[in-house]
Amino acid sequence: MSVPAIFDYHPAQSLDEAIALLQQYGDDAKVLAGGHSLIPAMKLRLSQPAHLIDIARIDGLSYIREDGDVVAIGAMTTYTTLAKSDLLRQRFPLLTDTASVLGDQQVRNRGTLGGSIAHSDPAGDMPGVVLALKATIVAKGPNGSRTIAADDFFVGTFETALAPDEILTEIRLPLPGAHTGSAYIKLENKASHYAITGSAVVLTLDNAGVCSAASLTITGASTQTVRATAAEAALVGKKLDSAVIADAASHAADGMEAVADIHGSAEYRRQMTNVIAQRALLKALERAQA
Ligand SMILES: Cc1cc2nc3c(=O)[nH]c(=O)nc-3n(C[C@H](O)[C@H](O)[C@H](O)COP(=O)(O)OP(=O)(O)OC[C@H]3O[C@@H](n4cnc5c(N)ncnc54)[C@H](O)[C@@H]3O)c2cc1C
Repeated sequence: MSVPAIFDYHPAQSLDEAIALLQQYGDDAKVLAGGHSLIPAMKLRLSQPAHLIDIARIDGLSYIREDGDVVAIGAMTTYTTLAKSDLLRQRFPLLTDTASVLGDQQVRNRGTLGGSIAHSDPAGDMPGVVLALKATIVAKGPNGSRTIAADDFFVGTFETALAPDEILTEIRLPLPGAHTGSAYIKLENKASHYAITGSAVVLTLDNAGVCSAASLTITGASTQTVRATAAEAALVGKKLDSAVIADAASHAADGMEAVADIHGSAEYRRQMTNVIAQRALLKALERAQA
């Protein structure tokens, strides 16, 4: 059985303490949240931090609350808590649907929304969802808190806009307008449930049924979660029907650098991206029209 390299464990009692530890240990330190990506990586020795700063004991990092025109979610909120939230089911069914199909029950009980986003795994489900929902990410560092738009947050494979001494504290989701529908569909690896390709969609229609806003993101198929801008452009300003959706979905993989691995070739991923995007778009449209 694989075991991690030796490390010192620091159970931080406050955000300030965790940030001070990050400053003290620099590149030798890693934040530990739910541990469901970091610990497997440490056991495989892909990651060998000398210091683990556990933020699970810090009070006040797990919550879901309406705050004016946004819903704010604490970074340590687990997928199970997200999936069970009535507020989210009512306001952001995209998030509850995704939290319900992510990994298995043990992963959902421990894994956190903040951890998933900070990890920026190209195959992770939540980066595509928060990108589609146009979330704002709140990060706290030695100089206080700052906000980062989701579109600027995911900068590469396992890379984000977080500074090394910052902790992601909150995810803020703007409340959707009327006639908004959303959906997440993934073609998953049957063993791990990770997306081979997945598509998160948010569609808003105006009173005449014309698409006034469209968000379509792709996860799993590329080196990072991407926004399918060509497909989005093919939707906005149009009255949506199955022909418009099929045309937009055929552009979902445009410009995407598809990855190839044992689960599928780049060409397979591109084709399946278009198929999965079409299914997600149709489901989101049905919900927007309901
Ligand atoms: C068997 C298995 C199946 C899985 N299947 C899926 C799946 O289908 N879909 C999917 O999306 N994921 C899947 N996962 C991964 C799971 O979702 C992880 O929970 C998630 O990727 C990371 O969240 P975490 O809270 O566990 O973070 P951790 O593993 O604790 O941390 C991950 C990384 O983020 C950093 N980090 C964490 N929180 C913060 C923070 N607040 N501020 C700054 N940095 C932070 C850590 O330093 C680390 O680098 C699976 C995992 C396992 C073990």
